[in-house]
Amino acid sequence: MTDTLKDPVCGMDVRPEDGLSLSHDGQTLYFCSQLCMRTFRAHPEHYGGAPAAAADVRARRIAYFSMEVAIDSRMPTYSGGLGVLAGDALRSCADLRIPIVGLSLLYWNGYFDQKLDEWGNQRESPSQWNPSTFARLLPGTVQVLIEGRPVAIRAWQYDIRGCTGYAVPLILLDTRLDENAPEDRDLTSSLYGGDERYRLTQEILLGVGGVRMLRALGYSELERFHLNEGHASLLALELLRETAGADGTQWDFKAVRRQCVFTTHTPVPAGHDQFAYDLVNRLLGESIPSELMRMLGGSERLNMTLLAMNLSQYVNGVAKKHGEVSQAMFPGHAIDSVTNGVHSRFWTCDSFAKLYDRYIAGWVSDPFLLRNAVSIPQDEIWDAHVEAKARLIDEVSKRTHVTLAPDAFTIGFARRATLYKRAHLIFRDAEKLKRIAQTVGPIQIVFAGKAHPKDEPGKDIIRHVFNQARELGADIKIAYLENHDIDLGRLLTSGVDLWLNTPLRPLEASGTSGMKAAHNGVPSFSVRDGWWIEGHIEGVTGWSIGPATAPPSGQDSEDVRDAEDLYHKLESVIAPLYFGDRKRWVEIMRHCIALNASFFNTHRMVQQYATSAYL
Ligand SMILES: *Cc1c(COP(=O)(O)O)cnc(C)c1O
Repeated sequence: MTDTLKDPVCGMDVRPEDGLSLSHDGQTLYFCSQLCMRTFRAHPEHYGGAPAAAADVRARRIAYFSMEVAIDSRMPTYSGGLGVLAGDALRSCADLRIPIVGLSLLYWNGYFDQKLDEWGNQRESPSQWNPSTFARLLPGTVQVLIEGRPVAIRAWQYDIRGCTGYAVPLILLDTRLDENAPEDRDLTSSLYGGDERYRLTQEILLGVGGVRMLRALGYSELERFHLNEGHASLLALELLRETAGADGTQWDFKAVRRQCVFTTHTPVPAGHDQFAYDLVNRLLGESIPSELMRMLGGSERLNMTLLAMNLSQYVNGVAKKHGEVSQAMFPGHAIDSVTNGVHSRFWTCDSFAKLYDRYIAGWVSDPFLLRNAVSIPQDEIWDAHVEAKARLIDEVSKRTHVTLAPDAFTIGFARRATLYKRAHLIFRDAEKLKRIAQTVGPIQIVFAGKAHPKDEPGKDIIRHVFNQARELGADIKIAYLENHDIDLGRLLTSGVDLWLNTPLRPLEASGTSGMKAAHNGVPSFSVRDGWWIEGHIEGVTGWSIGPATAPPSGQDSEDVRDAEDLYHKLESVIAPLYFGDRKRWVEIMRHCIALNASFFNTHRMVQQYATSAYL
C-alpha cells in the first residue's frame, strides 16, 4: 500500500518506506520518530495497543450490542447480514477511532456448518473452533439470575484493529464455566439455536449480562448504548433497574432514554421478537415489576422492538424506505433512517484493492474517494474483474463438480436461504431462461446460502435449486456452494458479472450483499426494495426488476410479474450489453464503484450514527 499512515502516538503522517516500524499484536505499526516509538513501547495501551488499560477502558463512550458479529470467517459468531453489518460497523469505528466497545455472545458451536447432499438436502453440524486462538479470556465473572438461579458469565476480548492501529474491543460473553449447571454451560453454544426459552435466555445474557460485564470491566464512562436489533432490548431494562434506587421504585426513564439508541431491522410485525409474559416472568423473575414491563413492552406479549423504542431516544431503520415502513408500523415514535453500508477495505477483493491503491490513494481510510473510480482506465477495471472471476471459477471447481466457463455471463445469488429472498425466482420459467442462454450467449449461475435448521421452506428452496441445476445442467451451468460465510461472500460478490437480488417487497429492510458487489465493480439486478431504491439508476449502476412499488397483491402474482420482467431485461438489455458492448458494460462497472461504493459503506454509515445518535 502506498497510503500514508498515521503514527499511533503523535498522529502525524508517516510513510512506511521511512522505516520506523514495530510489530505489535500481529500488526505492523509505523512511527515518525524514535521518540514516538519509545513512547509507544512504554505505554502501548494509551495508543490503541493491547492489553486494554484502565485509561483505555474509561475512554469508551459508546457500547454496541448485537446478538451476532461477523469478524473472521474462522469465528462462527454470525449467521448473515445482521452480523456482517455489526462487524463492518465496528471495523469502521476502529478505522475512524470512534471510542466504542462491542458486546455479543461467544457461541462455542457457532451457527452451524452446512453440508448439502446431491439432492440439496441440508445437513447441519456444530461448527468447530477454538476461541482462545482468536480472543483472550478476561479475568472475573458476573452473574445474572435465570429462573431464580445464578448463572455465571465470563468474557473474552477480541481487538478489532483499524487501519491506523486503533483498536475497538469486542467483548464476547460465555457461560461455559464449571460452576454453572450443565444446562447453563450450553447457553452460549449456538446462535439462533434451541427453543423460545433458549432464545430469551440468550437475550438476558446479552442485555442484562452485557451491561453488568461492562460495569465489572471498568467501562464506567459509557454515555450511549446502541441496540442493534431487538435482541438487545433487555439492556434497556437493566439500565432502568440500575436507576431504581434502594427501594426499587424510582425509575428514571429519561436517563435510560438519553443513553439508548435503537436500530430496527425488521419491516413486518411478524418479524419482531416477542415472548409470552409467562416465559418472561419465569426466566427473569420480578427484578422488573410485571406491570412496568407490560407498560413498556406491550400488554399481550413482550415485544422486544416496542420495548426498545419506548426506552430509546433515537430510533432508526436501515434504509430510507425501511424507515418509512417502520414509521407506519409505529406511528407513535419518531423513526429516522440511516442506510446501511459495508466496510470498504474488507469487502474489496485483492485485484480491485490493488487497483484502488494505485489510482485512489487514501481510499481505505476515506472510501468517499472511491468516486474517483471514474478516472481508472477501463481496461484495468476489466482486468481486475477477470482476475476476480478466475479466482471464483477456481474455487467453484475445487468445491463442486461444476467447471464454470470464464467467458460465460455469470450471475451470483448468495444470502440466507429463506422464502422471501426468492432464490427460485430466476427458475420460474426455466425454458425461457434456457432460450435466452441459447440465443444471446452462455449463462451460468452460482448460488450459496444456509437455511435456518428449522426453516423448512428455506430448505425446500435449496432442493429446488439443485433440481433445476440437474435439469438445466446441459444448457446453463449452475453451482451451489456449501457453507456460505464472509470469505465465500467476498469471492462471490467480486467474482460474478451480475449480482441478482429478488426479495419480496417490502421484506428486504436494506440488504448489503449488493453493496459488496458494487465495491468490486459488479452491477446489481434487483427488485426495488431496501438499499436498491437509493442505489439504483437504471442502466447506470445496474437494473431494476419489477415496478417501483409493490401493489398489495399475493405472492404468486408478484412472482409471475417479477419473473417476466427479469427475463425480459436479461434477454433484451443486460445479456446483449455484456456480450455485445464491453465498453459500455465496463462503464457501468465504474459507476457502481464511483456512485455506490463511495456512499454505501460503513464509514459513511458510522459517521451518520455519530452525528445523529451518538453525539
Ligand atoms: C453480506 C452477507 C449476507 C447478507 O446478504 P443480503 O443480500 O444482504 O441478504 C449474508 N451472509 C453473508 C455470509 C454475507 O457476507
